[in-house]
Amino acid sequence: MEGNRRLEVLERQLCAVQLAEAPELIDAAALSAICPKQLQALLVHDNPELRSAVFEFLKGDIFKPNHYLSLMEFRELTLQRLQRFVAADFGGRGFDVRDYMNDPRRFMAGLECLSFCDYSMAIKAGVHFTLCGGTICKLGTAKHHNALLPKLNTLELPGCFGMTELGHGSNVMGIETTAVYDAPRGEFVITTPSNEASKYWIGGSGQHGKICAVFAQLTVGGVWQGPHVFMVRIRDDSGRLMPGVRIKDHGPKMGLNGVDNGQIWFDSVRVPRDAMLDRYASVDAAGTYSSPIPTVSARFGTMVGGLTTGRILIGQGAVTACMIGTTIALRYASQRPQFGDKLIGDYLTHQRRLLPGLATTYALQLGMKQLKVAAFDAAKPDAKLVHVLSSGLKAAATWSRVEVLQQCRECCGGMGFLLPTRSGP
Ligand SMILES: Cc1cc2nc3c(=O)[nH]c(=O)nc-3n(C[C@H](O)[C@H](O)[C@H](O)COP(=O)(O)OP(=O)(O)OC[C@H]3O[C@@H](n4cnc5c(N)ncnc54)[C@H](O)[C@@H]3O)c2cc1C
Repeated sequence: MEGNRRLEVLERQLCAVQLAEAPELIDAAALSAICPKQLQALLVHDNPELRSAVFEFLKGDIFKPNHYLSLMEFRELTLQRLQRFVAADFGGRGFDVRDYMNDPRRFMAGLECLSFCDYSMAIKAGVHFTLCGGTICKLGTAKHHNALLPKLNTLELPGCFGMTELGHGSNVMGIETTAVYDAPRGEFVITTPSNEASKYWIGGSGQHGKICAVFAQLTVGGVWQGPHVFMVRIRDDSGRLMPGVRIKDHGPKMGLNGVDNGQIWFDSVRVPRDAMLDRYASVDAAGTYSSPIPTVSARFGTMVGGLTTGRILIGQGAVTACMIGTTIALRYASQRPQFGDKLIGDYLTHQRRLLPGLATTYALQLGMKQLKVAAFDAAKPDAKLVHVLSSGLKAAATWSRVEVLQQCRECCGGMGFLLPTRSGP
């Protein structure tokens, strides 16, 4: 109780820090009247029932942290955690990838909760549902939705997103993978023309992925039409690589080791005409290309426009990490005595180190709220505003995460170096 009281005092002092430039604005009575429940309602963006159900679900034994696992065991556990997630009921509706289109706030709320538990699981889910599933939702048509989304929903078909290449990361327009239409056979031929064109970093491809949304430069009848997306099976149902597909597992990384990233080469892999996601551009059986979007660059903007939800989720994941870090460090500050009876949170220097991070976390969380309003609540969202806000906030949130968490670690002294300090959702 004493710890909680001190935490509340620290949180009120946060407001004082924010208002320190205009101390006359500080209303002590109003500050002391802050109601935690109202504050929570302000900070939780939407879908409180779903969020509560997911947090309850994450209390299951399988989600308890285990820092003694090998790389392969951790990947297996991450897959099993996701399998539990897709099988869960969450108040009757479960988690449905089609909500990417039908109820994007619910879709995001479900995935956001995972990052409070384990970021590997959140990223594996994000690649599968948002990058792969969301691309099918946004760029595909009914035939893709009907054939693929139910299998993504159950994880029967673990999905990957193959955009980045070894030689082309930030410059997506420069990718080299080709898709050439073979009219007599009604197929596209997907090829990796050089090592630089190999798909790199592809989440889920190292071990578990069975289908990949592959970005490739399309040529039809000898005419180049720019990057388009093709759904390519990379492994069969039993997990064996498909003919012409070669994958190198990235192995251990500096973090996110529950995710099996990999490098993919395509050696003249043939896919049917229906494999092209054709909402904004299509090729008929005779090999006639058509698109309502007239230029290659405008089409490219549409093809990568579907990345917005993933970008918001990455930004939100960074804010979640700040929430977790500041909560741990503030709790520690309000319970750890040092030099007699005083708690470390009583020292001004300690407050000056922690409270700006807390203020940043509040600001970013409220910023994410505005972004979601712009992206999902407007009848006709302003695409440019959403792009600018989501890109800026993602950068601000991920940079802040590094600074805030480093302060939090240092403020926990030696305990900040111990993995179990951050244990459980
Ligand atoms: C853990 C992880 C998982 C990933 N998962 C996937 C996935 O599932 N699917 C997928 O397709 N990709 C994935 N990626 C790839 C990711 O999208 C790319 O790493 C990212 O686009 C950056 O590309 P790059 O690594 O080639 O960096 P580069 O483009 O080489 O950039 C290196 C640095 O240079 C800077 N830079 C680049 N160009 C400019 C410029 N014009 N002006 C100024 N600065 C510049 C960048 O900001 C960066 O700091 C993943 C990456 C990681 C690390």
